[in-house]
Amino acid sequence: MLTYFPRLYKDELLYSWFARYHLHSANISPKQTMRDLYGNSNMIAVPDLPTDLLKIYENIQHFDVPDVESWIKNHTFYRYYTSFLSESQKEAVYMAMEKGTWSKSIHLATGVMASSIKDIVYFRYCKRCVQEDLNERGETYWRLLHQLPSVFVCNKHNELLVSSKLLFRGRNRHEYQSIKASNLSSVPIAKTNEKTTFFLTMLTEQTVELMEADHIFTVKGIQSAYKYLLQKQGFANFYGTVNQEKLAKQFISFYGQEFLELVQSNVDYLNESCWLKNITRKQRKSFHPIRHMLIINFVGERINSFYQYAREKRYPFGKAPYYCLNPAADHYHKRVIPSVTLSTCTGTRRPVGTFKCTCGFIYSRRGPDITSEDAFKIGRVKHFGQVWLDRLQLLVTQGQSDYAISKTLNCDIGTVKKI
Ligand SMILES: [Zn+2]
Ligand SMILES: [Zn+2]
Repeated sequence: MLTYFPRLYKDELLYSWFARYHLHSANISPKQTMRDLYGNSNMIAVPDLPTDLLKIYENIQHFDVPDVESWIKNHTFYRYYTSFLSESQKEAVYMAMEKGTWSKSIHLATGVMASSIKDIVYFRYCKRCVQEDLNERGETYWRLLHQLPSVFVCNKHNELLVSSKLLFRGRNRHEYQSIKASNLSSVPIAKTNEKTTFFLTMLTEQTVELMEADHIFTVKGIQSAYKYLLQKQGFANFYGTVNQEKLAKQFISFYGQEFLELVQSNVDYLNESCWLKNITRKQRKSFHPIRHMLIINFVGERINSFYQYAREKRYPFGKAPYYCLNPAADHYHKRVIPSVTLSTCTGTRRPVGTFKCTCGFIYSRRGPDITSEDAFKIGRVKHFGQVWLDRLQLLVTQGQSDYAISKTLNCDIGTVKKI
């Protein structure tokens, strides 16, 4: 039974905790550390999604350490890579981390993501965090947040991170390596202009939101939220078809080429496999969290806010009730029609709304409404109704001219003559 284990720090990468154990234990061989942790010296030191953690827990639980769930959620890449995956994929990754070995689901989470956006090459740190750690506790550690591919700026000090000399995927895969003077460098991870720096800070903030909670996004919900928000911003029509050229052009000018290159998310609307095209269509594959953050921020939302639109629908004629547009009725221009019947215009494929009022007046209009005045437009009167006809009768009896009547009843003079 182990007689010593260090305390796990806030936001510490689980890998870093084990590396500090190796350092403090004065084990000469990394294999001995692997044996202490797993009871097996052939295990691999994985920095992002380590597996079989319950075994380690069983060996160190007598030190009153946090539980495995807290390790997985707060000290590994689990939430980062799975928040946008389906419930079953999340569960499979979790299970593998808790008590499995390297599995297909872990491969999916890292493999698919890594194919679009490369991992960081070296472990990263913030100079000021390191200095503060050394002053306060005499040692420092690898922070989880600083290793995530969307984080370039320290969330605490708002300073660009620095690349260490230690490979994120080390040469000796069986060794946990701690942060120490010999592997620190002074090269900031990027040189950036002001606009890029602004968006890098945005990415850090979004990543913090992603990592702070268990998100209950579903793939379908994400799609419908994106659809709604793209419609709201005028990038998609009523049916959800996205104007890809307009979207791509505005996306590039909004973020700037430098930033998009830095986060490996260039956009090319002429390319059929462009990620922006795919993420705004029906999502048949998974996307790297960076890409989700970019689109979410672009439509004016955040990780913690966009999903409220997952069930939101665009109403082509706004929400009920609707205006009665019968000039003969007492309730003319009042919102008294409780619902609209929708159909599709065969020629234009645009939505058509038919509004039926209790006064007998029925009108239709092609949508969708763009401005608030559109709600007062009549495309076609389908039925005038008794109230309207009675008024017409009255006006005729009063001896008014056809022209005056057409003005009063807001219809063309031919209709007055005919009726
Ligand atoms: Zn810092
Ligand atoms: Zn009416």
